[in-house]
Amino acid sequence: MKSIRARLTLWYTSLLTVTLVLLGGTAYALLSYSLSHEVDAALNGVARSLTERAHGPSAFVPAEVDEAFRRFFGFSPWNRYFQLFDPLGHRDPRQPAPHSGRLPLSGEALNNAANGISTYETVPGSEEHPVRVLTMPVMEGGRMVNLVQVGMSLKSVLETRTRFLLIMAVLFPVGLVLAATGGLLLARRALRPVDRMAEAARRISAEHLAERIGGTGAGDELDRLASTLNEMLGRLDTAFTQVRRFSADASHELQTPLTILKGELEVALRSPRTPEEYQAVLKSALEEIDRIAHLVEGLLLLARAEAGVLRMDRRPVDLEQLAEEVYWRLKVLADSRSIRFDSELAEPVVVPGDRERLWRLLFNLVDNAIKYTRPGGVVRLSVRSADGTAVVDVSDSGPGIAAEDLEKIFLPFQRVPMTAPGTERGAGLGLSIARSIATAHGGRIQVRSFPGKGSTFSVYIPMSPEAPS
Ligand code: ADP
Repeated sequence: MKSIRARLTLWYTSLLTVTLVLLGGTAYALLSYSLSHEVDAALNGVARSLTERAHGPSAFVPAEVDEAFRRFFGFSPWNRYFQLFDPLGHRDPRQPAPHSGRLPLSGEALNNAANGISTYETVPGSEEHPVRVLTMPVMEGGRMVNLVQVGMSLKSVLETRTRFLLIMAVLFPVGLVLAATGGLLLARRALRPVDRMAEAARRISAEHLAERIGGTGAGDELDRLASTLNEMLGRLDTAFTQVRRFSADASHELQTPLTILKGELEVALRSPRTPEEYQAVLKSALEEIDRIAHLVEGLLLLARAEAGVLRMDRRPVDLEQLAEEVYWRLKVLADSRSIRFDSELAEPVVVPGDRERLWRLLFNLVDNAIKYTRPGGVVRLSVRSADGTAVVDVSDSGPGIAAEDLEKIFLPFQRVPMTAPGTERGAGLGLSIARSIATAHGGRIQVRSFPGKGSTFSVYIPMSPEAPS
């Protein structure tokens, strides 16, 4: 029962069986009822027409009785019964000879008749089938003068019912087999696209994420499933591409300083050098190693944040004080580039967070602002609080960022074409790291930029403790 096809067919057939049994049962009950009702009504007609005759002085002739039966039952070859009793229950001597043996007169029927009530009974007949009997009093002046008893073998009724059951017994299984086969074929047809889609999905591996699953084209549920799966494949494809690009970029970024380092050391070793020369080479090598260490540290932070295992040392941190530290740290750089660096730091804004990481976040943003702003430009740093959220704004009068690049710059190693060529570039991890740190604090970074006029990066960090998102 693993396949939906089989289960659908089983359910469908079971439901159909229940429906057929219910319908058949109801039809059988209705048929039985209407047959019995018809017999009783006909017996009533016969008895009535005979009670009218029973008033007269002459005895019944068999032809009269036959005639009455024929009138109400039509031509009928089945046994019929007729008896006439006096009020005490004795057989009337005027009655014609019985057709098919005698019927008993029950005490109950006699009692009912004395009260002017007719009685219907089903009694065993002279042959194998039971007989339906009607005992009807003949009243005269409110007094019972006679009793007419008419009966009819239930053979035809029983046979009709048996025939009905037989027909059902043959038709039901045939109908069920036909319906089950039809159901199975329909289910198979309806589910064939699922097999096709499963086959297509099986072929798609990490290397072929650009492939898509074909739908039914009918806009139905399966078509929607196919397009949902395709959307998922699209997202997976993007994620895989990003991961691949990340690895490739990371290797590339690491390779450059390593090549430089190797080259410098090889050159230094080629011939004997003075201690000063060795010192200079070692200093330069140390700088390259610093760059590599910085890069690896950034990569590690991003990888941990991505995996959701970024360790955070959460304590109350005054962002205003932190911003001031960053301000003084980078003021020298701004001055050296003839950039005006303003700060708007009025009162403490305390957030629960990791001081070191938040410092890095602010440093990266301000460092970028100074790095990408031309001499003579302005960089502004401000901290405020609004609706339970700490907001740090870093704005500059730099080249700005094109609208289509606003999301891109937060991806690792993404650097967009600059309006000011020759600007010193970093590895392209600064903003990714900043965003990861903000997210780990339950916050976010928003950027507004006007190309040619400048950009504003705003960091929002919740001031009440909350689980890192
Ligand atoms: P990078 O190490 O290149 O600075 P980042 O991740 O910090 O890497 O920034 C990504 C890119 O976003 C930068 O290369 C630059 O093109 C752009 N960018 C970042 N900050 C600014 C800014 N203040 N003004 C203009 N462009 C910026």
